[in-house]
Amino acid sequence: MTQTATASADIARAIRNIPDFPKAGIQFKDITPVLADARLFAGCIDLLTEGFKPGMVDAVVGIDARGFIFAAAAAIKLEAGFVPIRKKGKLPYQTHEQEYDLEYGTATVAVHVDALKPGSRVLLIDDLLATGGTAAAAAKLVQTLGAEILEIAFLIELSFLDGRQRLKDYPVRSLVVY
Ligand code: AMP
Repeated sequence: MTQTATASADIARAIRNIPDFPKAGIQFKDITPVLADARLFAGCIDLLTEGFKPGMVDAVVGIDARGFIFAAAAAIKLEAGFVPIRKKGKLPYQTHEQEYDLEYGTATVAVHVDALKPGSRVLLIDDLLATGGTAAAAAKLVQTLGAEILEIAFLIELSFLDGRQRLKDYPVRSLVVY
């Protein structure tokens, strides 16, 4: 077995499932035990960035809020900048916004208008891919800024929700698939 396969299985074992959080019917994937383990946290960053070397990526874009944890660490490793995509109303400067559908209603994500230079090469990271609405909206914001998405990477994918379908224009990687 390769080191990569071992790390990914170890990460899967450390993810804690919390039934009915934050509301009935949701199986919340709690990643805090992964973060608290130095070897597993570092393993996540190695796997999320596997195949990329310093100089290949200009910015790692992270999605509010747990995506920030992985994207920031990946940015340091790849010697790239870190750019946050936040929920509407949190960023202080001028923003571009993108609305997306939730199960009930809509949500909006935002990015600073000058966060990425046109043509910059981006790795987009979030903790979990569910329906793909959040990541698709984030990807649109990156495109609005004229940057190029090299890949979208997630720690966890809930494959039964078919979020990849929404991201079919991009290479997508996930470390642990349910
Ligand atoms: P979606 O837009 O449906 O792909 O939802 C993805 C976003 O919602 C990610 O930023 C996740 O952090 C969060 N999320 C959705 N479902 C779960 C879940 N079962 N456990 C933990 N986080 C979730």
